[in-house]
Formats: sequence, C-alpha cells, structure tokens
Amino acid sequence: MSGRGQHIDRVVIVGGGTAGWMTAAALGRMLGALGLSITLVESASIGTVGVGEATLPQIRTFNRLLGIDEAEMMARTAATIKLGIEFRDWGRPGDHYIHPFGTYGEELGDAPFIQYWARASAMGAAASIGEYSLPIVAALAGRFEPPSEDGRHQPYDYAFQFDAGLYAAWLAELAQAAGVIRREGRIVAVRREGESGQIGSVLLETGETIDGDLFIDCSGFRALLIGDTLGSAFEDWSHWLPCNRAFAVPCGNGGDHGPYTRATARRAGWQWRIPLQHRVGNGLVYCNDWWEDQAACDFLMAHLESDAGAEPRQLSFSTGRRKSLWSGNCIAIGLAGGFLEPLESTSIDLIQSGILNLVELFPGEVIEESDRAEYNRLMDLEFERIRDFLVLHYVANQREEEFWSAMREMAIPQSLSDKIEDFRTRAILPEYAEGLFQPVSWISVFLGQNVVPQGWDPRTDALGETDLAQQLEDMRQRMAADAGSMPTHLDYIRNAGASFPASIVHP
Ligand code: FAD
Repeated sequence: MSGRGQHIDRVVIVGGGTAGWMTAAALGRMLGALGLSITLVESASIGTVGVGEATLPQIRTFNRLLGIDEAEMMARTAATIKLGIEFRDWGRPGDHYIHPFGTYGEELGDAPFIQYWARASAMGAAASIGEYSLPIVAALAGRFEPPSEDGRHQPYDYAFQFDAGLYAAWLAELAQAAGVIRREGRIVAVRREGESGQIGSVLLETGETIDGDLFIDCSGFRALLIGDTLGSAFEDWSHWLPCNRAFAVPCGNGGDHGPYTRATARRAGWQWRIPLQHRVGNGLVYCNDWWEDQAACDFLMAHLESDAGAEPRQLSFSTGRRKSLWSGNCIAIGLAGGFLEPLESTSIDLIQSGILNLVELFPGEVIEESDRAEYNRLMDLEFERIRDFLVLHYVANQREEEFWSAMREMAIPQSLSDKIEDFRTRAILPEYAEGLFQPVSWISVFLGQNVVPQGWDPRTDALGETDLAQQLEDMRQRMAADAGSMPTHLDYIRNAGASFPASIVHP
C-alpha cells in the first residue's frame, strides 16, 4: 500500500494487448478521481495475439464511457459496421441465417412474437423469421443507418468490425493521456508476499522492479500471474467445444461485403470472414483431432475471396476458463482468464465485462472476500452462458461429416438440453435479467439450425388466421421498405470519415 495510507493505490497491468490497453484506458478514465498510480508492462519481443476484429454492440457503451467519438474511431481503426453474424451451412449445407443485433417482429397481442410466428409458420402463412427483423433485412441489402430514436422503426443495435491492433494503439494513447505509465520489458520473475501469498511486484529483465497493490493479468494465453504464479486452475471445456487451432490470414477487399461477419461451417470447424475498410480478415477454426494442420491451412488458402495479403498464421488454444478469475490481489482479464472460440465474437465483450465489474467492485482499503466472490460469480455466469450458446451451434446440426456427427451426439450440459427441449415443445425461451444472449439470439440459432417448435401459446388464437397472415405480410413489407430507405453501408462509412481503396469506392 502507498500514497493514501491503507488504500489500494498502485495498479499494475501485465500485458499490452487489447485486454491490457482496454483495461488501462478504462481504469485511467473511470477511476481518475481515486488518484491511482497505474502502470502497464508490455513486451514487444513477446508481442500480442494479433487477432480479434469482430465485436458486439456493447463496445459502443464502452466507447461512450471512454468519451470516444464513434466517427473518429471508425476512421482510425478502419472499421465497418456489423449488424449481426451470418451463419452458413451450420444446420445442413446450403442453410444460412443471420443472428441479428436486434429483434424479430412487432407486438401482435399478449404472447411474444415468436409464438405468433410459430403458429403462422405451421399454417404455411409465415415468411422466414429473418424477414421480420430489420437489421437482417438491412444487412442482406447492404444498407445501414443508426437506429432512429423516435420509434419509427423496429429497434436494433450495431457493432463494428475493426483493426484491433489500431484500436489497442489508440487506447494506449488515451490511457497514457489519462496518466497511465507504460513500461517496456519482459517480466522474468514475480515476487509474492511471504505471509499473505499476494503478489508484491514483478521484475523485468532490465532489472527494474514494479511494485503494486493490485495486479491485472492481461498476459494473454501465458496467464503469467493468475496461472503460473497463483496457480488458479484452468477449467477445460474442450469436451464441449473441441476446436483448438486456428489459421488466420488477411486478404484484399474486393468490394462491399455488407455490414455483417460471416461464419461458414466446414468439415471439422468453421471459417470466418470479417470485412474491414482496407482488407478482409479470414480464419479457419478447427479441431486438429479431425483435421490435419497442413490440410486445414491449404483449405483456408483455397477458400479466400481474393489474394492473401500475408502468410497464414497458426494459433493454438484450449477452450475453458480459470476457476477463479480474481484470486488474491490478481484479476485476470482477456485471454489470461479464459477463451471461448470466436464464433459469436465474445472475447472483447468478456474483456469489457471484466473491466466494468472490476470498476464496480474496485477495492477501497483492503480487498474484501465478498467483492472477490461477487466478481467471480458474475464472470462465471458470463462465461457459462456464452459456452452453452456456442455449444448449441455445434449440437443442433444435421451435417454428415464424422466431426459433425460426433458433435450432434455429444453429452451436453443439462442447462442446454433443457433450453432445446423448451423451444422444441412450445417455443419457450431463456430470458435473463442481465448479460449476453437474450431470446432473439436463441431464436436465431434454433430456427436457423432447424430446431422447430411443435406447439405455441394458445393466446395467439385471439388473432384469426386471415388476420394473422395479413399482419405478418404487412410487417414483412414494412421491414423491406424501411431497409430500402437506408443509405448503403458504403455511403454510411464513407460519410463517417472512412477512406477506401479505389476498388471499394467503385465496386
Ligand atoms: P494478447 O494479445 O496475447 O496480449 C498479451 C500481452 O501480454 C502482450 O502485450 C504481451 O507482450 C504481454 N506479455 C505476455 N507475457 C509477458 C511477459 N513475460 N512480460 C511482459 N509482457 C508479457 N475476440 C473478439 O472479440 N472478436 C474476434 O473476432 C476474435 N477473434 C479471435 C480469433 C482467434 C483465432 C483467437 C485466438 C482469438 C480471437 N479473439 C477475438 C480474441 C481476442 O483476440 C483476444 O481476446 C484479445 O486480442 C485480447 O488478447 P489479450 O490482450 O488478452 O492477449
């Protein structure tokens, strides 16, 4: 302790990847009044993981809290807009659907919209569910405008696809402007206090020692403090999510790809496509028990939409998370805390949750056990909920390859099998007071991957068949007209200050 006597004053952030600089910028800005001394240590010789380009709408809240201007961010990080994720070939080859950042339908009576849709669909009087979702219709039409605040349109939200390296570099500027001190150098030792076992300092190879009261482990997959030093066990979830390798490679941007990320199911994994302003990020996530590395790499390189802009880079990982993300005086944020494959772009969002929960529970004089327990409870909930949602994508498939058959037949968490059964029986959906993946998300994947409700709420009978069919048709036409009146995605980002290569400006 120093400075304010018994207070936790000195915060040391280990790692300067996306997690480290997001944490540094947020603590610098949001806890400025506490007069903390915040030091971030990073090592250019170790580098960062260097992937992670697709985000969720919650990043907009984070940017707002940091006072970041959205147009400036888009221009500085070569960002495009993301209205959702398109899943191709996940149920059966040829299937596709979008998981939107929005909703489905409008109010038709006392029951939720999905109940009316289920009944109309069984009558043969409903279009595909995506046609009642404005962000989906707009995404497929390559159009975008920020949601209106006057209730004219169905509500929706949006996120960004950006160059995460540029974003982290910008946050580094903001953090240092807010007083965060940056130290360059490899950490070669960590000293623990004798009696408490808490971390006291880190030692750099330059010989410099950095003392702290609270340590944030943002050291990536190395988990230098939370794992190596404190031994917080890693809970492995590979039996549910066995993909453990990825190849990542950028390629040229030959046109406007529309405001969404794409995830295409492949033989033993899936391929991502994330269009930015100046390039497209691509990658293949796979399980190396089922797909040999070289063959997977060759497959990716043969399935790019234009010439590769670099050599493919391989990444290895295990799915799971640390049992205690806050242990002693150390909190793990980012990959050091755990990893869930990027199928639903959740990692940056988990970083953000970790930071915001820490800000809420930031210790005063001492670290209270109750705060630590509450932090771990909240983060466990986030991780487990995302895990179940990701597993659903794998289990609800009708593909024929060996990998996909094994995924279909695996034993899944009871919490997930209950959710699938509830939806199949009568379109009942999980609803949470807080956190990610509300009913819309579950509807998207259930219906997109052919889990079809067999029944529906009898309250929908209050609407006669002809009326129901007519109202759905009116709604469908309204979505198409509303999307059609939006500017193109290209025009929107161009007006937001983007600069494009000629090929994109004149596709
Ligand atoms: P890193 O980037 O690895 O940073 C670790 C830092 O610790 C570095 O600065 C390093 O120098 C430092 N360090 C380590 N050891 C030492 C030491 N001994 N001394 C000093 N410094 C040290 N997330 C998304 O939200 N969307 C996506 O689309 C997405 N796609 C992904 C695809 C793949 C294949 C993978 C693997 C991840 C993806 N992610 C995605 C996750 C995202 O990349 C990470 O969550 C994010 O980059 C944060 O990484 P990090 O900062 O925790 O770790």
